[in-house]
Amino acid sequence: MYPREIVDETFRLKAQGWTDQAIAARCGVSVQALRHWRYGTRRSTAPEARRADRTMYCPKCYSKAHVHHEAYAYVLGAYLGDGHITEGRRGVHALSIFYDNRYPQLISYCRAAVEAVFPVTVILVGRTGCSEIKAYSKHWPCVFPQHGKGHKHSRPIELEAWQSRIVNAQPEAFVRGLIHSDGCRVVNRIRRKLPRDSETHYEYPRYHFTNTSTDIIGLLTDALDLLSIAWKSHVNKNEPRYRDTTVVSISRRDAVARMDSFVGPKY
Ligand SMILES: [Zn+2]
Repeated sequence: MYPREIVDETFRLKAQGWTDQAIAARCGVSVQALRHWRYGTRRSTAPEARRADRTMYCPKCYSKAHVHHEAYAYVLGAYLGDGHITEGRRGVHALSIFYDNRYPQLISYCRAAVEAVFPVTVILVGRTGCSEIKAYSKHWPCVFPQHGKGHKHSRPIELEAWQSRIVNAQPEAFVRGLIHSDGCRVVNRIRRKLPRDSETHYEYPRYHFTNTSTDIIGLLTDALDLLSIAWKSHVNKNEPRYRDTTVVSISRRDAVARMDSFVGPKY
C-alpha cells in the first residue's frame, strides 16, 4: 500500500501532462500501480489535480518553482549546442533539440531530461540522419530566455543570474549537454612498426566542440575552467563547411579521462 500523498501526487502530475514512465520514476511506483489507481476504484481527492497548472513548474512565472538542477543544466547545454525555440499559435512555443540518429541512447537520455525540466509531453520527430526531440509549452521562453530572433551566433547569448547559479552548481551536466548535442569524441589511431614485421597502435582520444557563437564557446570554456579541465581553442580557417567556427579541443590525457568520467564516449 502506498501513502495517500503519493497516490495524490501521481494524479496531480498526470493532470499536468506527465507520462506514466516519468511519474513512476519520480514517485518511485510502478506503471502498473499508476494504471490501477487511475482505472480502478481509487480516486484522487487532491484539489491540485483538478486545477492543475503547469505554471507552477516555471522558474519565471512562479517564484517557488523547483527546477531539477542537473536535468536543467543538461538540457540548457543541449539547447545551446543544437536546439532552438519557435513560436507557434496562441503563444505556444516549440522547443526542438537535434541529435544524431547514431546515438539512440543519447536521444532517450535527452528526452527524459526535458521531461524532468518541465512536465511536458516530448515527441520524437524522425529527420534525415537525426531526430528532433520536440515539446510544446507557453513557458519555453521563460525556461530558456536565450530564445530570440535569428541565429544564436548573430545575437549575444548571456545566462540570467538564476541560470548561472544552476550551471555553476552542475557544470558537468552542462558540459555533457553541450558535447552530446554539438560536440564529439574522436579517436586518432597511430600505427607503429615493431621489429619482425609486427605493429602496434596507439590511440589518442580527444573531445571537440565546434560552434559559431563566441558566447556559447565562452560558456563551455568557463565551465571547463570551473572543472579544472585543460582545453585549447582555434578558429577554423581551412574546412569550407566550418569556416570561422571556433573549435574547442580537449586532448590532454588527464583532461580526456576526466571528460570520459561524466560525458562518456559517444561513439
Ligand atoms: Zn513561464
